[in-house]
Amino acid sequence: MKLGVMGGTFDPVHYGHLVVAEGVRYEYRLDKVIFVPAGRPPHKADRPMSGPEHRLTITALAIASNPYFEVSDLEIKRPGLSYTYDTIRELQSLYRPEVVYFITGADAVLELLSWHRIRELLAMCRFIAATRPGYNLENLTVKLKLLPASLVERIVPVEVPALAISSSDIRRRVSEGRPIKYLLPEGVEEYVLSTGLYRQGLHQETSFC
Ligand code: ATP
Ligand code: MG
Repeated sequence: MKLGVMGGTFDPVHYGHLVVAEGVRYEYRLDKVIFVPAGRPPHKADRPMSGPEHRLTITALAIASNPYFEVSDLEIKRPGLSYTYDTIRELQSLYRPEVVYFITGADAVLELLSWHRIRELLAMCRFIAATRPGYNLENLTVKLKLLPASLVERIVPVEVPALAISSSDIRRRVSEGRPIKYLLPEGVEEYVLSTGLYRQGLHQETSFC
């Protein structure tokens, strides 16, 4: 089994995430892509996030129509900071895949050097760096020169149709009363608007309480 893992805060999930996951699934003939909403990501610890139940629900709504996609509450349930290293280990023991592809956008992969146990993580799974508007994959190549070549080989850039969509922009739009239609699946839009998520600008709830 070839397993894809798509990590993110998904606050909210949008078409940028879905296009990346589906593009990589097809390109690498993955049997399954698991979306793992982040619990307490160490690199976002200083900013408020919507409650995990909201992010889990909207991710489930967003992926419902794709038979290859699943959502996991594994990071949300795990106490403490969420490290991808622990997540991949857990998924490996659950699914026993032959290979794991961790799917990220170019911006996330540029920060890779600061990730917890990055060398071990790169030895455990391949990284797919999807193109994202505004982030230069050449910068990545320069940064990665700091890692041994055997590990750099584990990171593969992939071209996906560029969607200049971000969760931050969607949150800002909601707080300003501007439309978010066509940036994310309808079910997610309805959920966001009916629950009042992001309306106050800041999040009403955080996952740290
Ligand atoms: P925020 O603005 O809050 O950081 P985001 O849109 O970047 O949200 P995340 O949940 O941080 O969404 O992203 C999860 C993963 O999806 C990351 O690896 C990110 O690089 C990738 N990603 C998000 N949006 C896109 C996009 N439009 N194109 C390509 N990759 C994306
Ligand atoms: Mg982001």
